[in-house]
Amino acid sequence: MDALILKPDREKSLLRRHPWVFSGAIQQVIGDPASGATVEIFSADRQFLARAAYSPTSQIRARVWTFDPDEMVDVEFFRRKIRNALERRAAWNFSPRDSAALQPASGAMRLIHAESDGLPGLVVDRYGDVLVLQVLTAGVEFWRETLADLLLEVTGARAIYERSDADVRALEGLPPRTGLLRGTLPATRLTIDEDGLKFIVDVAFGHKTGFYLDQHLNRRRVGQLAAGREVLNCFCYTGAFSLHAARGGAKNVLSLDSSADALAIGQENAALNGFSPEALEWLEADVFTALRKFRDQNRAWDLIVLDPPKFAPTAAQAEKAARGYKDINRLAFKLLRPGGILVTFSCSGGIDAALFQKIVASAALDAGVEAQIVEYLAQSPDHPVSIHFPEGAYLKGLVCVKA
Ligand code: SAH
Repeated sequence: MDALILKPDREKSLLRRHPWVFSGAIQQVIGDPASGATVEIFSADRQFLARAAYSPTSQIRARVWTFDPDEMVDVEFFRRKIRNALERRAAWNFSPRDSAALQPASGAMRLIHAESDGLPGLVVDRYGDVLVLQVLTAGVEFWRETLADLLLEVTGARAIYERSDADVRALEGLPPRTGLLRGTLPATRLTIDEDGLKFIVDVAFGHKTGFYLDQHLNRRRVGQLAAGREVLNCFCYTGAFSLHAARGGAKNVLSLDSSADALAIGQENAALNGFSPEALEWLEADVFTALRKFRDQNRAWDLIVLDPPKFAPTAAQAEKAARGYKDINRLAFKLLRPGGILVTFSCSGGIDAALFQKIVASAALDAGVEAQIVEYLAQSPDHPVSIHFPEGAYLKGLVCVKA
């Protein structure tokens, strides 16, 4: 068996069950492991620590499959892991509509959330009876065909579409790959149901795997907060927050995004759900520029949603990202009427919850407003966080009320 021997005292994170082994921790590679192959990890004094997937080009040189010396990494192992992930979600139904089972056929949820489901590098989302698969690491690439077969077998899905086009694959020495992997799919545009609202998801051309499922419960919350309010939804993508707000009784909703394609689908989504065109307004714009313009025009709203893309994928970009977050939050505080609500998010792995709260606080200070945090939001429960992998908690949200 190929193996990695760690340097002295570098076994601590594995003993705490954190699943990553960095290249700097490795003393010696025994054998000639192929990219993605399973290696055993030993401490400097030859104590067994884990079985892991080898990533020869990445700084994260190995990712743990199992800490159990008696557990083999084989087809049965992956079948067990996939079943476990589905069973956990079935036990955690957050509404009768959401289910890990592929019934009702239009429900959507994340079925496998990488490290947090014990499968580093594997993301699987279900959109009705179609799965979208993201392969992010050499280890998952190695087992890709097996995983595709098992996913069909365990879920009974009609098709699997692959969206392995995330930038992080380059760090693993893997080229981007997208396309139909299993089954048949007459069209890449599907319609899903979220809390009774219909949304078009384009699994081939949409962002990431097609839809931002992690915001599901937060959209539901915004729907509850929207009644009678004028709503500004920034970084709206295909309008999911907008439609929840409109159904919740918003007076009107203005949605901003820089992507014309996303906005076009947003408008289709509005029509699909029977909203009149006047209820929802869509604007193709850079949010940074648009908010300044609105400030200069003395415009005001009662509820503002800020759900920007990842400004800081890693801690190294945190400082520049912090300026971006502060800028949009400062402008949003200014644009809110007294008593208005700011629902603000960061999905940057490089910015933790405490730092994000500090950034929003200094944005309020600069805007010259008083505010209270009334709720803390996070990713929805189909995006769990392994207790040993705090990096899994990437989505932070604050609900602030302006004094
Ligand atoms: N809130 C959305 C997801 C937002 S994803 C939902 O619930 O579905 C982030 C969005 O920001 C993307 O749609 C992207 O096109 C958009 N975007 C990125 N940079 C932008 C900018 N500077 N101005 C406006 N939109 C931007």
